[in-house]
Amino acid sequence: MITNYQGLDTLRAHGLRLTRPRQLILDVVRATDAHPTAAFVYQRVRRRLPRVSLATVYRNLRMLAAEGLLAERADAGGMRFDGNTGPHDHFTCLACGRIYDVPARAERSVRRRIAARTGFEVLDHRTEYYGRCGACRRQRGRSPVTR
Ligand SMILES: [Zn+2]
Ligand SMILES: [Zn+2]
Repeated sequence: MITNYQGLDTLRAHGLRLTRPRQLILDVVRATDAHPTAAFVYQRVRRRLPRVSLATVYRNLRMLAAEGLLAERADAGGMRFDGNTGPHDHFTCLACGRIYDVPARAERSVRRRIAARTGFEVLDHRTEYYGRCGACRRQRGRSPVTR
């Protein structure tokens, strides 16, 4: 059996019933690296499935995340979804609010230090970067773009 870890085959491999909204939702999140909110995904999915509800989109996003097909992250503005499920850190632009992927740094020494200091067993950790993205730096002086 040829295993393809993209879309349809992944869903089948995970034993999920493949519904059209679920496939579309997965496609929408994977097609962008902007870490969309449920509302953004809903707007996109609704173009193809006008009768879909925000609640359905949200429920499916959470299920896809629970299955490991998407990553989710709690943000000040609510839950954001990530098509990139590999290990990586994030850079949040404080000017436009966009979240970018940045390569994760495997700082094992940091984990070891924390573990030694607290007695915790550290299984995972993430680093969050904040600042101004390249596009916003170039646009300095102009009014921020609202999304
Ligand atoms: Zn920006
Ligand atoms: Zn990401």
